[in-house]
Amino acid sequence: MLKVDEIQNGVVIDHITAGTGLGLYHLLELEKLNGDASVALLQNVRSEKSGKKDIIKIEGDVSRLNFDILGYLDPQISITVIENGHITNKIRPQQPKRLVNIIKCTNPRCITAIEQDCDQIFALTPSGRYRCVYCEQEFKVKP
Ligand SMILES: [Zn+2]
Repeated sequence: MLKVDEIQNGVVIDHITAGTGLGLYHLLELEKLNGDASVALLQNVRSEKSGKKDIIKIEGDVSRLNFDILGYLDPQISITVIENGHITNKIRPQQPKRLVNIIKCTNPRCITAIEQDCDQIFALTPSGRYRCVYCEQEFKVKP
């Protein structure tokens, strides 16, 4: 298991809502990193703040990854970038009002599932979640 202080170059994604780490892993397409980086997914880690949480640690070249999506989908998440053993950056993305072609609607009856050329558009709701503008389905990270 990778520990934070063992990471020399990489990123630690902490305070992920328990049960959604694997979904985020797939959203970031971390399975495609093989060779460039080693990835650890920790599930149901005890946390004083929130009871349980998931953590993703990536050691290696993460320059091709876009972590902003994590902050869009779960504003609680903390993203820490480590270079040469030192924390160099904490990524705290603002949630945009609209997400276009970043996440996909999971409603099989949605027009975006039927029309291949249809843009995937989600709008931010006051609760900080995203809803498909076509079918109103709220986006949830798959457990
Ligand atoms: Zn939809």
